[in-house]
Amino acid sequence: MGGTRLESVPFVVVGAGPAGLQAATTLAQAGREVLVLERNAEIGPKVCAGGLSRKCVRFLERFGLPATLGRETVASLSVFGGPAFALDAEGARVRTIPRPALGQWQAQVAQAAGAVLRTRARVTAVDLPGRSLTINGREQISYEHLLGADGSLSVVRVALGLPCPRRLFAVEYNLAGVDAGALSVHSDPAALGNGYFWAFPHAGYTCFGCGGDRALIPPAAIRAYLARRLRKAGLRLEGARPEGFPIEVAYRGLDFGAVHLIGDAAGLASPLTGEGIYAALVSGEEVAQSLLEPGRRREALAAWLRRRWHHARIARLWRSRSAHLLSLALIRGLCRWRWGNRACTTLFLN
Ligand SMILES: Cc1cc2nc3c(=O)[nH]c(=O)nc-3n(C[C@H](O)[C@H](O)[C@H](O)COP(=O)(O)OP(=O)(O)OC[C@H]3O[C@@H](n4cnc5c(N)ncnc54)[C@H](O)[C@@H]3O)c2cc1C
Repeated sequence: MGGTRLESVPFVVVGAGPAGLQAATTLAQAGREVLVLERNAEIGPKVCAGGLSRKCVRFLERFGLPATLGRETVASLSVFGGPAFALDAEGARVRTIPRPALGQWQAQVAQAAGAVLRTRARVTAVDLPGRSLTINGREQISYEHLLGADGSLSVVRVALGLPCPRRLFAVEYNLAGVDAGALSVHSDPAALGNGYFWAFPHAGYTCFGCGGDRALIPPAAIRAYLARRLRKAGLRLEGARPEGFPIEVAYRGLDFGAVHLIGDAAGLASPLTGEGIYAALVSGEEVAQSLLEPGRRREALAAWLRRRWHHARIARLWRSRSAHLLSLALIRGLCRWRWGNRACTTLFLN
C-alpha cells in the first residue's frame, strides 16, 4: 500500500459512537493510552431516534449525564391502529437526546479522562495478522488491542470475515416545530410485519420513523409507508429529508484474539425493538474492563444478551402474521391490568 508506519498505540478504537466513546472512557480512566478514530468531521450525528430507556439513562448518570440534557416522557403503545395507551409510568420513562448532543457530551467525558479523539479519520483497511490499520487510505497505525465500534457498516467486522446480513432497516424524518406530545410506538402488522412506527418527541422537533425486517418489508416500502403515514396525519414533509440506516443484529461474539467488537459492530441491538444504545454502552464498558482485567465477568452484558435472546425469539415468532396478531391482542389485554402493563414494559424496555 506504500503507507508509512507512523504510530503504535496500545488501544485503538474505531468509531466514536456510544460504544467507542464508552470504551475509550473506561480505558482512559484506568490510565491506558487510547486513540479513537472517527470518520466524520463531527462526533455524534447518526440516523437514530435518540431514545434512551431508563436503564440507559441510569448507566450514563454514573458518568455525570446532566439532568437537563434531553427530554423525558412516558412511552405509550398503540396496537391495531387504536389510540395509544400509556405503558408503566416508571418503567416506560424514556429520555430523548439528539445524537449530536449525546455524542458531544460523551466525547467531553472521554477526553477529560485522557482519551485522544481524531475526526476525519476513516479506517479503510485492517491488517489482522500485522495488527495494523490504514486511515484514509494512506496512514498506518499499529495496535496491541483493536476495538471495532464502527456500527452496522463495520469495516472491522468485515475484516474478521463475519456475516453482515444487516437484517433490520429503519427510516426517520426529524420534523422541526412539531411536538408529538408523548413518545409512542405503533404496530401495523399488515404493512410493517414485525416492525413498528414511532413518534419520539425531542425539544423543538419530533423524530417520526419506522423500521422492520428487510426480509419482510424492503427499505423502499418502509420509506413509502412512512411518508404516506405522515402525510395522512397532516404533516408537511416539503423540505424534510428521510434518513435511513440498517441495524446489524447478527450477534457472533465479541472477542477475536486482539480484536474485539462492541455495539452495532457486534450485532448487539435488539432484533425486536432495534434498541441499541444501551447495548453499545454496556459492551463498550465491559469489554474494555475485561481487557484491563482478563477474566472479569461481564454481568450487565450477560443480562442484556439474555433479554436480547427473548427479543430474537419474539421477532422470529412475529414473522408469522397470525402469531403476531394473537400476541398483540394478548399484550393489549394484559396492559389493562397494572401488573400486566408492568410486565410488558419490562419485556420490551427494561
Ligand atoms: C432510524 C434508527 C433509529 C434508532 N433509534 C434508536 C433509539 O431510539 N434508541 C436506541 O437505543 N437505539 C436506536 N437505534 C439504534 C442505535 O442507533 C444504534 O444501536 C447505536 O447507535 C449503536 O451505537 P454504536 O456506537 O455501536 O454505533 P454507531 O452509533 O453507529 O457509531 C459508529 C461510529 O463509527 C463511525 N465509523 C463507521 N465506520 C468507520 C470507519 N471505517 N472509520 C472510522 N469511523 C467509522 C461512525 O461514523 C460512527 O460515529 C436506531 C437506529 C436507527 C437506524
